[in-house]
Amino acid sequence: MNILSFSNFIRSLSVFGHPVYCLVLLILLPIMLMANNVYIATTDIHVRIRPEKESAILFILHRDEQVDVISTQNYWSKIRYYGRTGYVHSRFLIKSENTESQNSKDNNWLLLIIPLLFIPIYFLIKQWLFNKQRIKRRNYYRNVYLKSEEWQRKRHVVLERDNRTCVYCGNPATQIHHLRYAKYNIGKEPIDWLVSICKSCHEDQHK
Ligand SMILES: [Zn+2]
Ligand SMILES: [Zn+2]
Repeated sequence: MNILSFSNFIRSLSVFGHPVYCLVLLILLPIMLMANNVYIATTDIHVRIRPEKESAILFILHRDEQVDVISTQNYWSKIRYYGRTGYVHSRFLIKSENTESQNSKDNNWLLLIIPLLFIPIYFLIKQWLFNKQRIKRRNYYRNVYLKSEEWQRKRHVVLERDNRTCVYCGNPATQIHHLRYAKYNIGKEPIDWLVSICKSCHEDQHK
């Protein structure tokens, strides 16, 4: 994957809003998923492989034990109990007052941690893309713009304006120094940002 298509990919995430909102969604979604339906067994019940009375028994769920109900169909509830899933008849379950699931807590912290990890990753990627762009701009400046006729003309105008003398020491100027750079509009800096300079003063300026 090249740099451009990758940055396009990041940008395409923006169809859902700003990437930061996407991250917030990523964090909220698992929390919403975690708000599982928590139920309590009203008696000792058999947890079965399939939602049928005749299907094999997986284990026994004891009275007052808490389970997560994943789904319910035809009076059979698919439940999760300490990572195990099975089916019990719905009439043996009552909704728990406690909305915080005890038995799935152990697994669900991962759902929280993983999206949180995306935050530093997002900013690292952003920083990385930013640096790539900066290097690209710098290389363009050095290799293309400074060799262009446009620059030669501008350079000439600045040297003439300053009477070809270094604005720092008064010696003959042979170079141009940027007081500021037009970061995003290469070559669009006004000549006010450019000064004529001699080689030794220029070296001092960039120390
Ligand atoms: Zn300079
Ligand atoms: Zn000088």
